[in-house]
Amino acid sequence: VDSVDSQDDPLGHSFKRVNSLSVALKEWDIPYEQLQIGDPIGTGRFGAVYKGQWHGDVAIKMLHMDPDTDNQAQLAAFKLEVAMLRKTRHENLVLFMGACMKPPHLAIVTSLCKGHSLYTYIHVRKEKFLMNKIIIIAQQVAQGMGYLHAKGIVHKDLKTKNIFIDKDKVVISDFGLFNVTKLCHFNRRTDELQIPPGWLCYLSPEIIRSLQAGSTYGKSDLPFTEKSDVYAFGTVWYELLTGEWPFKNFPPECIIWKVGRGVKQSLGNIVGSRDVKDVLIMCWSFHTEDRPKFSQILKAIYRLPKKPFQRSPSHPISLSRSADP
Ligand code: ATP
Repeated sequence: VDSVDSQDDPLGHSFKRVNSLSVALKEWDIPYEQLQIGDPIGTGRFGAVYKGQWHGDVAIKMLHMDPDTDNQAQLAAFKLEVAMLRKTRHENLVLFMGACMKPPHLAIVTSLCKGHSLYTYIHVRKEKFLMNKIIIIAQQVAQGMGYLHAKGIVHKDLKTKNIFIDKDKVVISDFGLFNVTKLCHFNRRTDELQIPPGWLCYLSPEIIRSLQAGSTYGKSDLPFTEKSDVYAFGTVWYELLTGEWPFKNFPPECIIWKVGRGVKQSLGNIVGSRDVKDVLIMCWSFHTEDRPKFSQILKAIYRLPKKPFQRSPSHPISLSRSADP
């Protein structure tokens, strides 16, 4: 726990570091009784997310603790992640407001995203974005991700379900929370690889190669890095461009085999210039060192040709093709 705030304590006394972290975290501790919990929004791997009230509208992500695991080290891991979240302030990241840190009520409280997720736009509403809109969305995602990385935070779960379009702004959620799955209760079948739907196509080859049967994915120490986030961004870029997931209709074991060996989704279905595909090729590089940083991705996206278009005053960035001028 103390390593998180090492820069807060230049003297390096561990008791001081622990102290400074718990003092810092107190500011972010929300007593569970203060939350008004409303309707559930949905359920993810970590537990359910509810609409709620805490000085206004909020989203409350409840973490189901594993009743068999009452481990102080794992609670400390949760606190570590909260300690990271409190450092995030960027307009393209969901606003972290605080957390309930007393077991059994562990919860993360963030601003409530009132728009739809990019997943809903692309895969449920089947919206087709024009290139200009794709560029605007991708730029904002890359900006938010670049900021996270500059803060030393790896998202570990970048996907269109975790990207919201709130009015004219892109908001990334769910960053840095992956390790808290260690606190959660899983189906514990030991002879199978646990793969939640819609997860595989965001995993880079080095992560795919580390998946192991017999362990829930949250419990194995998967080698997430900034570069695996970049790979996941490549998949988001692909979804924006094509409205599909890569390796659509392939069974999981086949995707694992292909990605693990460096076989890529064909880019034949992408209507776009070479530069558009190059972003994908860079992000999906097999070797981590060949993948760009988000600052480079941003530059590459800025350079893409944009068609001039008129903004409607009432819909600053209207997202669907049908709403285009
Ligand atoms: P996973 O657990 O694999 O990430 P998920 O993204 O579906 O899956 P959650 O992140 O727990 O699961 O989210 C559950 C639901 O709550 C999703 O429908 C998500 O869109 C919604 N949600 C999460 N955070 C917010 C938020 N800040 N504002 C509005 N809705 C949210």
